[in-house]
Amino acid sequence: MSQLGPDYVRAIAPYQAGKPIAEVAREFGLDEAKIVKLASNENPFGVPESSRAAMAQAAADLGRYPDANGFELKAALSARYDVPAEWITLGNGSNDILEIAAHAFVQRGEAVVYSQYSFAVYALATQGVGGRAIVVPAQDYGHDLDAMAAAIDADTRLVFVANPNNPTGTFIPAAKIEAFLQKVPANVVVVLDEAYNEYLAPEHQFESSQWVRKYPNLVVSRTFSKAYGLAGLRVGFAIAQPAVTDLMNRIRQPFNVNSLAQAAAIAALNDKAFLDKGAQNNAAGYRQMIAAFEELGLQYVPSFGNFVLVKVGDDEQAGARVNLALLKQGVIVRPVGNYGLPQWLRISIGLPQENATFIEALKKVLG
Ligand SMILES: *Cc1c(COP(=O)(O)O)cnc(C)c1O
Repeated sequence: MSQLGPDYVRAIAPYQAGKPIAEVAREFGLDEAKIVKLASNENPFGVPESSRAAMAQAAADLGRYPDANGFELKAALSARYDVPAEWITLGNGSNDILEIAAHAFVQRGEAVVYSQYSFAVYALATQGVGGRAIVVPAQDYGHDLDAMAAAIDADTRLVFVANPNNPTGTFIPAAKIEAFLQKVPANVVVVLDEAYNEYLAPEHQFESSQWVRKYPNLVVSRTFSKAYGLAGLRVGFAIAQPAVTDLMNRIRQPFNVNSLAQAAAIAALNDKAFLDKGAQNNAAGYRQMIAAFEELGLQYVPSFGNFVLVKVGDDEQAGARVNLALLKQGVIVRPVGNYGLPQWLRISIGLPQENATFIEALKKVLG
């Protein structure tokens, strides 16, 4: 056989990213300025001003390598989350954290547990190390933590839990997560992926960063890509006890977070006004979306993130068909057939006018 690469690498289905605006403009002959992109859960306000200013300053030093240890960013995170800087791992986006965890804790043939309909990168990270995926059926489109705990077998080394989950938007309350953590064996690492944490209403917030004091096998993962508006810079981080953090940092590429990203992240972390504005816009935009879905009689999954999953038809082509019709009108959303949800679309919450443009286009498409 002259096949290149291991079979588990050839078996990986490539990640399907949201279509870039320029690509849709070219493909459908549309004006870029009129295209609305609600496909990648990006922040509709873009980069915070505070981060732009910080990057302008940091740009002067781009001839040098970034700080491999991210001293200042870790100091800022350490102060914010009340954990020692030695407990923090920086990532080139939190996707990097997920991959680092798979490389650090799983060898070929060992098992990784995650939920059906959970973030696509869990499957990719597992396959990338030749791990065996144990995919646990979802409950009401969210994680069934009892079933996930029961699915952990002797070969399991890692569990991914997304809270809130993408693409379904479901949320698990603190008490349930803690009950789950108590059941997981100490030799199994749990990555609690909280990419949308900052969008949670105050009554749903909890300090998961403090759980790492209690659970030596817990990794809390966060990102600057969503609420902080820095998706293009690629910066995320993990909080875990030193034994786990030390292993993750051995796998991490030393310069995985560039200088502009480090500077921008520090500024964003301290920009409470930007976060508040985003959270308010998101809450209002969510109400705008679900009001339209209710008017159209469409089923949706109540969401705790900055996006919402909506069922646009009963046949297996519904998602792809409605997606194409929306693209022709210059509206980019995310089909989720690759998640096993071919009747659904995931819509990111945008600015009020962007949401209105999408709703108008959807009404036209569904006639
Ligand atoms: C968007 C997202 C991430 C973050 O991706 P980055 O690499 O930080 O941009 C992580 N987990 C989930 C569930 C997400 O939806």
